Amino acid sequence: MHNKLGNNNKIGNKINRRKKKNKIVIIGAGPIGCYLGSRLAKSGCNVEIYEAKKKIGEPVQCTGIITKEIEKILDSNILYEKEIIINNIKQVEINHNIKKNNKSAVIPIDDIIIDRTKFDQHLAKLAQINGAKIFLKHRVIRIDKTRNEVYIKFKNENKKVTYDILVGADGPTSIVGSNINSKQENIYGLQMRAKLKKGFEVDKQTYKVFISKKYDGYFGWVVPETEKIIRIGLMGRNVKNTKKLFEELKKEFNITSGEHQSGLIPVYSPRKKIKERNIFLIGDAAAQVKATTGGGLVPGMKAAQILSKQIITLQKIKPYNKKFTAKKLQDRLKKKYEQVKLKRELKLHKIINSALRKMTTSEYEQIIKCLKNKKIKKILFEENRDNSTKLILKLLIAEPRLILFVKNLI
Ligand SMILES: Cc1cc2nc3c(=O)[nH]c(=O)nc-3n(C[C@H](O)[C@H](O)[C@H](O)COP(=O)(O)OP(=O)(O)OC[C@H]3O[C@@H](n4cnc5c(N)ncnc54)[C@H](O)[C@@H]3O)c2cc1C
Repeated sequence: MHNKLGNNNKIGNKINRRKKKNKIVIIGAGPIGCYLGSRLAKSGCNVEIYEAKKKIGEPVQCTGIITKEIEKILDSNILYEKEIIINNIKQVEINHNIKKNNKSAVIPIDDIIIDRTKFDQHLAKLAQINGAKIFLKHRVIRIDKTRNEVYIKFKNENKKVTYDILVGADGPTSIVGSNINSKQENIYGLQMRAKLKKGFEVDKQTYKVFISKKYDGYFGWVVPETEKIIRIGLMGRNVKNTKKLFEELKKEFNITSGEHQSGLIPVYSPRKKIKERNIFLIGDAAAQVKATTGGGLVPGMKAAQILSKQIITLQKIKPYNKKFTAKKLQDRLKKKYEQVKLKRELKLHKIINSALRKMTTSEYEQIIKCLKNKKIKKILFEENRDNSTKLILKLLIAEPRLILFVKNLI
C-alpha cells in the first residue's frame, strides 16, 4: 500500500510532508480530548491520544444534562440515531429545600439528557475516523518538558513518547497541569443512578433542582432517564457535609442502592494557568466548567474549537519553532472573539456562584418567588443559557427585584 502510493510522486511528496508534521500528543481520551483530537486530525494534524482507562466512557461520572447548544457543535441527528440522546427535558422545577411541602418554581427549558458512555465513545470514534491514534491503558506517569517527552506506563512496560505540542485533556487531577504548575480547586459531585422503588415515580420531562442555604451556593438534582430511573446527585465543597446532605436527598426519594457515579468537579478560575510554551490544558484539566452547574461538556467543547484553531495556526509554522512561543501565539490571538466570550461566560458563572453562596434563606425564598413571574419564565426558556450575560440583563429588566440577587454579586 505504502509502496504503491510512493510510486506516485505527488502523493509521495504529500506523505513525506505529512511525516514532517508536528506531533500533537493529547493526554486523556475523555470527551474533550477526543473532540479536540478529532478536529485536529480532520485538518491534517498528526495526533496521538493516550488514555489511562481500558474502555472509553467508563465508569460514568456525569449527569449528562446539556443545553441544545450542543446541536451547534455536533450533528444532533446522529446523536438521536445512535441513542446518545436518551431523554428530552421540558421543564426544571426549582425547589427551596428538599421537603415536598416546600414551594417550587417551574421553568420551561429545552435540555437533553445523554448517555455519557455512548457520547464519549462516539467522539473517540470520530477522532479515529479523522485519523487520530488512540492508545488505551496508557497512563502518563511523568513529563519532561525540557526534552518534550512523556513517560507512559503500559502493562508492565514504561514507554517514552516525544511531542511537539502537548495537550492535557486529563481531567480534574491533570498530571499535565501539575507539570506546568497550574493549580485548581475541585469540589465533589456525588451522584447515583438508581431505580425508583414501588410507589415512587418522577415526571420524565422534569428535572428537579434543590437549592438551600445549607448547600453553600451549590444544589442537589434529580434528573430522569425514564419515569423510574433517575440520576440523583449533589455538589459541594466539603466531602463530609456533601455526603451527609446527599444521604438526606436520597432518603426523600427512598433510594438505598444504585450505581455510584461520583467525581470531582473543577472550580473555574480566570487566573488559572492553561498554557506554557508548547503545552496547553483543556476541558476539566483547564477547569473550563460552569461554576453554577458544574457543566463542563459544552464549555470544554467550545474551548476545544478555539484551541484547535490555534494549534492549526501553529502547525503552519513547521517544524515547531521554539522561538515562536505559544505565549506569542496566544497574545496574537488574545482579542479573538470566541476566546474572550468563553472566558467572560465562565467568569460570570463564577461570580453568580459566589453570589449564591452569600444569599440568606429569605433571599433564596424571594428568588423562587421571582422565578414564578411569567416574563421571567419566558426569558429563561427563550434565551440561550450558555450566553448568561445577555440572559442576566434581560432578567433584570423584566424583574427588577432580582437586583436583590445582584447585590450579592458585588
Ligand atoms: C457528578 C458529576 C456530574 C456532572 N454532570 C454534568 C452534566 O450534567 N453536564 C455537563 O456538561 N457536565 C457535567 N459534569 C462535568 C463533566 O463530566 C466534565 O466537565 C467532563 O467530563 C470533562 O471532560 P474532559 O474530557 O475534560 O475530562 P474527563 O472526562 O475527566 O476525561 C479525562 C480523561 O483523561 C484520562 N486521564 C487522566 N489522567 C491520565 C493520565 N495520567 N494518563 C492518561 N490518561 C489520563 C482519564 O482516564 C479520562 O478518561 C459532571 C461531573 C460530575 C463529577
